[in-house]
Amino acid sequence: NNITIAIDGFSSTGKSTLAKQLANHLGYVYVDTGAMYRAVTYFAMQHNLISEDFFDAEGLIKKLPEIKLHFEFNAELGFAEMFLNDVNIENEIRTIDVSRLVSKIAEISEVRAKLVEQQQAMGKNKGIVMDGRDIGTVVFPDAELKLFMTASAHTRAKRRFDELAEKGQLVSYEEVLQNVQERDYIDTHREDSPLVKAEDAIEIDNSTLTKKEQFDLVLDLIHK
Ligand code: C5P
Repeated sequence: NNITIAIDGFSSTGKSTLAKQLANHLGYVYVDTGAMYRAVTYFAMQHNLISEDFFDAEGLIKKLPEIKLHFEFNAELGFAEMFLNDVNIENEIRTIDVSRLVSKIAEISEVRAKLVEQQQAMGKNKGIVMDGRDIGTVVFPDAELKLFMTASAHTRAKRRFDELAEKGQLVSYEEVLQNVQERDYIDTHREDSPLVKAEDAIEIDNSTLTKKEQFDLVLDLIHK
């Protein structure tokens, strides 16, 4: 029987790694909701609606109907890539510049409402693994399995730093750590759908778990 798996947690806790593993193993669809918030951020940057010291939230809200998002599965990569108005922006949304601004975009209720509606539509058919910050609390409160991922700030910053370095992006470890902590702060303190553990979510601290150990632990939970 197919189920819905909701994975929430702080930035860079390995949510997407685990979600991809589970989706591949179970033959489920994986949806990375962070990519959708990043795509809206990229759109806002392209239209000069946001920068380090400027944010025209009203302007972005007016333009929301112009934003069309979809995912396309890339068999070579083994996951779905993000498209904004039919353009593949998978690489563009992973930059540190987008990471710096995305949590401000995610505070806007109108943005959340639009994305949550699309996420719920994608989950109509069970057999889905979705990761984000509000999946077990807002998007799928009835999900059969809810996981809440945590790890020490150092572990997470190190992981994100290695990822960015691998892609050739020059940022310091301190910068990455600061970004991770800033996003956590905004994500847990915003008014609309703040990041919190759902009451019935199972918390997994993976600071000292290998990917394999974590995966086996979750498979056990599914089979229980
Ligand atoms: O998961 P990822 O780190 O790519 O998400 C980027 C940002 O998007 C988060 O820091 C958060 O501000 C926002 N987000 C959200 N709700 C989600 C997924 C992501 O607010 N469901």
